[in-house]
Amino acid sequence: MKTEISKGLFEKAKQVIPGGVNSPVRAFKAVGGNPLFIKSAKGAYLFDEDGNKYIELINSWGPMLLGHANESIEKAIREAVSGSPSFGAPTRREVEMAELICQMVPSIEKVRMVNSGTEATMAAIRLARGYTGRSKIIKFEGCYHGHGDSFLIAAGSGAITMGIPDSLGVTQGVANDTLTAPYNNLKAVEELAIANRGDVAAIIIEPVAGNMGCVLPKPGYLEGLRKLCDKENIVLIFDEVMTGFRLSKGGAQELFGITPDLTTLGKIIGGGLPVGAYGGRKEIMDKVSPVGPVYQAGTLSGNPVAMAAGFAMLSHLNDNTSIYGMLAKTTERIVEGLKKDIQSLGKSYTINQVGSMFTLFFSNQEVYDLESAKKSDLGLFGRYFNEMLEAGVYLAPSQFESLFISTAITNDIADEIVKASSQALRKILK
Ligand SMILES: *Cc1c(COP(=O)(O)O)cnc(C)c1O
Repeated sequence: MKTEISKGLFEKAKQVIPGGVNSPVRAFKAVGGNPLFIKSAKGAYLFDEDGNKYIELINSWGPMLLGHANESIEKAIREAVSGSPSFGAPTRREVEMAELICQMVPSIEKVRMVNSGTEATMAAIRLARGYTGRSKIIKFEGCYHGHGDSFLIAAGSGAITMGIPDSLGVTQGVANDTLTAPYNNLKAVEELAIANRGDVAAIIIEPVAGNMGCVLPKPGYLEGLRKLCDKENIVLIFDEVMTGFRLSKGGAQELFGITPDLTTLGKIIGGGLPVGAYGGRKEIMDKVSPVGPVYQAGTLSGNPVAMAAGFAMLSHLNDNTSIYGMLAKTTERIVEGLKKDIQSLGKSYTINQVGSMFTLFFSNQEVYDLESAKKSDLGLFGRYFNEMLEAGVYLAPSQFESLFISTAITNDIADEIVKASSQALRKILK
């Protein structure tokens, strides 16, 4: 595989962009090697600057649910651009978009558009604090909620200890207000909430975690969180930036039948353009300015081109809900194929899957939280990643990421993925 042009671009990029990339995981640091510079993509395939072609299993980290360069989304974007890309004033499309979101995700009675998932989660916790008059939040180890200061906090060492900043530049003051608990451990979060009774504004969670690899909630876990929040008057925030419009048209909350107070959205909601949103109960959302005292604003929020792309994406999903069954089937075909092959090698690696999300963990143990995810053999994953790339399959360059299946992946392509994996595993296990 020739990658000279990508290598050259990366050298140049490192001179003018920190680490050569605009988001850290793109640098391939966890797997070794140089990042590929992508020139274009169509359907299930990515094309890099050196002319290599790859089957795409990241899909822009989720947004490209319908595959790349989908025609109806492209058309909507083109039409919107010709009417000027931004006004900074209300538009009809924003109203239609908000109505559609409220219809598809019934727990959302009112919604505010922003420009990224990070912005959505930052605004949602500010709102929860403003609504409850409390200052602390609880998050879970291994869940990612964007790069807002409050979320870059590592676990403390007990139910009443404060977290510690995970990044330089995050103050201890901010860290003191973020409490962390292990994922899928109801007792731990109950104890934490009770030890901090009256101080916890919100519990924020990925209802299916995708940022420590794909990790599903145990039966009863989300229900337990809902009950805890009701009892302690805590705002329950589902961060569905990844799972929203992916696991079903109403997201993970529809799939599991649990109603959060607030939901954050991103990724798919923009159809590939930078969009995020937060929404939920009217009573809470009406605390947002200009109607309420919680300030939040954005020059490019509800941008007409982004709304056109997002609206085209969501209306397609709303009109074609059979997509979700098909996506799950394709994903199961891949996962079953991988499992069979792994078994034939005498191995018992764990694969977690729900709908069109899955992760192959190089671990023999069940993966249900960050600690268990960390037991994976990262060296082996790195070698697998590079062999898969060589075989023309583009995986997420970290063990701790979910893979995303798009509707552009046919059964034939699914079988190609399984075959490539089988060859890669045989090479790295020799
Ligand atoms: C990607 C992601 C975010 C951050 O979204 P950005 O658009 O990258 O800022 C937040 N929460 C979850 C669950 C995510 O997967």
